[in-house]
Amino acid sequence: MTIARLVDLAGKATCPRLVVKVGSSLLVGTDGVRRDWLEGLVAELAAARARGQDVIVVSSGAIALGAAKLGFDKGGRASLADAQAAAAVGQIALSALWADLLGAHTITAAQLLLTLEDLEDRRRYLNVTATLTRLLDAGAVPVINENDSVATQEIRFGDNDRLAARVAQAAGASAVLLLSDVDGLFDRNPADPAARRLNEVRGVTAEIHAMASGGSSSGMGSGGMTSKLQAAEIAERAGIALAIASGLHDAPIARACEQGIGTLFLPRRKDAGRKAWLGGRLRLKGALVIDAGAAKALHRGGSLLAAGIIAVEGQFQRGDAVAVQGEDGGVIAHGLAEYDAADCTRLLGRKNAEHSALLGYAPRSAVVHRDQMVLI
Ligand code: GLU
Repeated sequence: MTIARLVDLAGKATCPRLVVKVGSSLLVGTDGVRRDWLEGLVAELAAARARGQDVIVVSSGAIALGAAKLGFDKGGRASLADAQAAAAVGQIALSALWADLLGAHTITAAQLLLTLEDLEDRRRYLNVTATLTRLLDAGAVPVINENDSVATQEIRFGDNDRLAARVAQAAGASAVLLLSDVDGLFDRNPADPAARRLNEVRGVTAEIHAMASGGSSSGMGSGGMTSKLQAAEIAERAGIALAIASGLHDAPIARACEQGIGTLFLPRRKDAGRKAWLGGRLRLKGALVIDAGAAKALHRGGSLLAAGIIAVEGQFQRGDAVAVQGEDGGVIAHGLAEYDAADCTRLLGRKNAEHSALLGYAPRSAVVHRDQMVLI
């Protein structure tokens, strides 16, 4: 039952490591920082720590805070330059705030500002893992935000929901709690009196996506339900539970856990290590479009062979992450290509026996090997 499951997020045994994401509208009100509310939340985080749970915070609010200080309109989101400047100003205040509030509980805060690329590149992702692990071992609470001042439009997460899910993967967390200004996922626009909240979701299907209505309701953050569902998809493949709950109350974690008010997305499977990283990749270098026979083979656990490829898209090198797509454009898998785009094009549709002659060198056993691929 949902209530019991949400309680699990507050249990050391079921959730030894929890990522809590705090949305901008919770941190910043019309009169500036919502300090009283935040003090209550930090008391809950300290209690989680006292129970023996590791806690990581993903905190939004830099842009909103900075915009207020600089007098920018539209919450600092009128242009990319505004957002970047606002974040630079707001981030200092935000970090000081967390350090201060956690410090009141004798907890050391640690700041990490990440870009999308930090988590898309395997080596940098592993660096993040190592840093987070060391910080948690040392008893600190990492407070993470996107490095908005340097991330340009093309290379940014843009929302902290997916950032939180990726951080949870990198940190080997058991659960993510997204606190925002909504009570969870509703089966239609929550403004509709007939709307009902879903307590539990097993798999983010097309039907579930259809329930999400898009942008942020507060207009302050950039998340909205769409990015929360994308975060849930990243989490569910990595064996991480993800809950969406409202932070518009005092002691929001207790409310979500004890009263079961929120939506819990259950993990679907547990990809570990490289496969979890691959499955959560948000930007891919290219795509291999495959026929129905090859798609079947992949679902049976096979590698992707050139004979089943019908088109090659994008410019990628050997070892780059690519999408494997069906003829309808739907993504079937993410994988690391064994050949660059030009050689993939040379080989497409051709049987393995022909490869050596086509390439002029000893071919690999597959275009994407099953060990370097994760079904989506
Ligand atoms: N990184 C942004 C900020 O600190 C927030 C992103 C979001 O709204 O999720 O303001």
